[in-house]
Amino acid sequence: MTQRARLLAANWKMNGSRADIARWLADFQARPPACEAVVFPPAVYIAQVAAALAGAAAQAGAQDVCEFTAGAWTGEVSAEMLVDVGARWVIIGHSERRASFGHTDPIVAGKVVRALAAGLRPIVCVGETREQREAGLTQRVIAEQLDAVLQRCTPAQLSAGAIAYEPVWAIGTGLSATPQQAQEVHAAIRARLAARDGAAAQATRLLYGGSVKPGNAGELFSQPDIDGGLVGGASLVAADFLAICAAGMQ
Ligand code: PEP
Repeated sequence: MTQRARLLAANWKMNGSRADIARWLADFQARPPACEAVVFPPAVYIAQVAAALAGAAAQAGAQDVCEFTAGAWTGEVSAEMLVDVGARWVIIGHSERRASFGHTDPIVAGKVVRALAAGLRPIVCVGETREQREAGLTQRVIAEQLDAVLQRCTPAQLSAGAIAYEPVWAIGTGLSATPQQAQEVHAAIRARLAARDGAAAQATRLLYGGSVKPGNAGELFSQPDIDGGLVGGASLVAADFLAICAAGMQ
């Protein structure tokens, strides 16, 4: 079986200022994690984060990307622009973008294609709502979200990035999935990838996201198909994010 390197991602959502970020980066750089880490600030701060992390094991990423290249798309930011300011990764299909900004499965797939074409490594988010879980639809929802992306690119291409399982009911709620619930979905995602390309499925990092904290990270990351985490709220404090990274290395 392929040994997959731990990957921890800090999604700051719409939080921070230049001063806040300078403090966070100073704390982070003072005790850099042993795992691969990616920091996702709001777009206007990517250049600041990328410059500070240059030469470090950690990289900067964007929280979204436009599915078009350039031109009359007011308010949008292209993949090439993100690369130009130092982003190396991009989160695509976060549930907050899906729910509040109309990012449907085909739009998510288009963004993945654009990101890959520009050399950005996508973290593709999938996840069910509470109602869907209670209706027994979790596996079907995840499969549909994944298949929409796999219609436009191969598992080998996706393996350059990662897939994040983020149950919508666990994001920002303090209510994490149990390690067993998360592992069950991660295993299903890997099996779905493996049905198309076994080697790519083994190589692809599958991240769990949804109320990961220093206290629950170790048990989540001990599951065989959980290769790291996409961390929201707890990543805003560098010490907490570093503690989660450390839990991932035990
Ligand atoms: C997220 O924003 O992707 C996330 C998982 O948030 P939180 O860790 O706060 O649940």
